[in-house]
Amino acid sequence: MPNPPRLPDPGRLEDPAILHTTEDTRTYPCPSCGGMLGFDPDAQGLRCVSCGTVVPIAPQILQPAAVAKRDLRRTMDELSRLMEQQPKSLEREVVCQSCGGRTLFTGSFTAVRCPYCNTPIQRDDVQAARTRLKIDGILPFQVSEKRAREEIEAWIGGRWFAPNEFKKYRELGSFTSIYLAYFDYDAETRTRYTGMRGVNRYVTVRDGDQTRTEVRTDWYPAAGVVENAFVDVTGLANSGLDEAKVQELEPWPMELNRAYSPEFVAGHLSRTYDEDARQVFDSRVRGRMEGVIEGTVRQDIGGDLQQVHSMDVSWLSLAFSQLALPVWMLTVTYRERPFQVFINGVTGEVQGQRPWSAVKIGFAIAAGVLVIVIVYVLYRYFGGS
Ligand SMILES: [Zn+2]
Ligand SMILES: [Zn+2]
Repeated sequence: MPNPPRLPDPGRLEDPAILHTTEDTRTYPCPSCGGMLGFDPDAQGLRCVSCGTVVPIAPQILQPAAVAKRDLRRTMDELSRLMEQQPKSLEREVVCQSCGGRTLFTGSFTAVRCPYCNTPIQRDDVQAARTRLKIDGILPFQVSEKRAREEIEAWIGGRWFAPNEFKKYRELGSFTSIYLAYFDYDAETRTRYTGMRGVNRYVTVRDGDQTRTEVRTDWYPAAGVVENAFVDVTGLANSGLDEAKVQELEPWPMELNRAYSPEFVAGHLSRTYDEDARQVFDSRVRGRMEGVIEGTVRQDIGGDLQQVHSMDVSWLSLAFSQLALPVWMLTVTYRERPFQVFINGVTGEVQGQRPWSAVKIGFAIAAGVLVIVIVYVLYRYFGGS
């Protein structure tokens, strides 16, 4: 049996959530009709999907806020120690407090909809757990479902070579709003390097009766120290998504960040991280930063060409925060393959995969060949005389 809901604690009266203590979950019932409230991008408040009632969010929560970062090494060492003491699996079954049905939170999902009554349910235990990194900041949705659908339509409409069935199938695909987990890094580095500077000179070469100019490169050893500073380099912390496409949703307007608050997640899906801050740094962020450092080294070497032989990077500071970033996601299964299309929930930028129609491409090539043949025939019979 569902237990009676507990009122929010007095210190947080601005949050209209109903907290379910036994399940450690929260829901947002509408005060007018008992339907469910969701964070509405147009209202920047909570709106009831059934009756349209808008419940405002406290101004101090809506205010953009600088998100503080924590030292990566210290935080992750501390977390590893805690996790040794109490290893914890994320997966959990929750009893829906609206209908009594059982919902399994699988993988890294922390906000889902009850499969029986569609009530959005948020887990509170993940954010509260000492063995998990907390979400520090959130970029609330700015793009409404209506606008997201329009952006998707325009994007699919503009894909000339997408098969017609794919365009039809989009209506059958799943279209959801989800907060994805990101880590956001700042770093300062000092890099000692060795390499070679190449300087071009031009020489005149005699070739029989003629002369021509050739380029010769002289190489000189080079060594030095460069410094770099990085601010807000983000890395996706969720698995199972087309990473290259998700990365192209950048840049995220970090100045719109808010301190994390669960109202923003109401009515949307949410995932916590699958890979922690150290793993994401090593797999997705370090390489990008080292690429930038190499660019600085090449600039420092100067000349016309450069060779970089060694780079010894010292990470003078390396700090991170965890962010929840908003994405509209369309998944279409076409010929047994899933295709994902993503929309940046703040800027509306669309990035995605789609199948290519062999028939349409074939027609386009055939049409191109036909044009060349016609032009050639016209030229032979009417031109050049
Ligand atoms: Zn209502
Ligand atoms: Zn339910």
